[in-house]
Amino acid sequence: MRTVKILCKIFLGLFAVLVLAVLVNFIPTIRLAGKNMSVFVGDRVKVYYETEKEAAREVFDLAEKRAHELAERLGVAEKRIIHIYIYDSQKKMQTKKYGYIAALLGLDWYIGDNIGDNVILTSPAGHGTQHDYESVKNAVLHEIVHAYNYIINRDMTYWLDNGVAGYLSGQNPGDIKAYGPVPTLEQTRVKGLLAPVKFTKFNGYAYSYNYIEYLDKTYSWDKIRQLIRTGDFKSAFGAGEEEIYQGWVEYINR
Ligand SMILES: [Zn+2]
Repeated sequence: MRTVKILCKIFLGLFAVLVLAVLVNFIPTIRLAGKNMSVFVGDRVKVYYETEKEAAREVFDLAEKRAHELAERLGVAEKRIIHIYIYDSQKKMQTKKYGYIAALLGLDWYIGDNIGDNVILTSPAGHGTQHDYESVKNAVLHEIVHAYNYIINRDMTYWLDNGVAGYLSGQNPGDIKAYGPVPTLEQTRVKGLLAPVKFTKFNGYAYSYNYIEYLDKTYSWDKIRQLIRTGDFKSAFGAGEEEIYQGWVEYINR
């Protein structure tokens, strides 16, 4: 009886520590805007930044210049302002969606993200090892597309969401045959908490860009827009998801 009581206490103690650790982990996600952030205000975007003002100004200029066109291509009718939060350090940016744990995982390629219709970005001035100033700056367009996609259809698949974001922001991967094996149909359906990591591993950015390029060339942008709104391949293309996938694989191997 006494042993059971002691075991219960240990279990409850461990459970409490675990709950506390999870709560502490997510503290950075509570507020995107820090007290010391300044802001550039435009018609389409608001850009919040810490100390790297010049880099933030360049991100703001690019975002403000392109957001209108991106909104139009995606069919975001109402004039939605996208809030963009730029952090001087990549690690700090990484804590804003997944908490402290993300910054401990050594995800050097992880420089920006969207949280619903908000965008978080590492300052191009602190770009890290896997990116340079320009590629981080341009990533803001990719993330703005995610923010618009969230407004259009919250259930959009990770594959389509990133394909459209890469395609519209001009992140052309070049010769697609230079990448590893073509993702399987199953891989194009990637979802869940580990989706970003899995996606990067099978070259999802390059391949999903190519997939959207295939749809655009073979069908039309209007049909892609229809697909991302509804997720319904049949009504958009007159062909199911599997048939479209096979067509794409043939397009790569042509
Ligand atoms: Zn993305």
